Amino acid sequence: MSDQYHVECDCGAVNLTLSGAPKVRGFCHCEDCRDLLKIPYHSVTAWEADQVSITKGEPETIAFQHPTKRMQRIYCKQCGETLYNTNAMNWKIVSQLFIRKNYDGKLPEELSSQMHFFYDRRIVSIDDELPKRP
Ligand SMILES: [Zn+2]
Ligand SMILES: [Zn+2]
Repeated sequence: MSDQYHVECDCGAVNLTLSGAPKVRGFCHCEDCRDLLKIPYHSVTAWEADQVSITKGEPETIAFQHPTKRMQRIYCKQCGETLYNTNAMNWKIVSQLFIRKNYDGKLPEELSSQMHFFYDRRIVSIDDELPKRP
């Protein structure tokens, strides 16, 4: 089982390396994810800040600071792809879909969702087998 994952943006200008195991992996239904990314819920892998490093193309990245929340969205200024976002705990949140695209459309099993969380804040209900946490 690998404990390093390498992903790159659509244009290849920026590479990320993810090290170790994510702290959380699952579907997040919180309003912060909705607000920052304009999505109904987020498929996340959440990492400590030092587990995610930009291994190529740091000058090609831009951080968008949310106007009121302690959150940022980091994206490639060449292709516009979101690389990760940060939350108030300074974790780095990498989309499962972004990783999956870099692994021939197959998310590594050890990064797959284990649960839905902040499910009481949802705007979309999900009918699947995963646990639903408030
Ligand atoms: Zn790019
Ligand atoms: Zn969230």
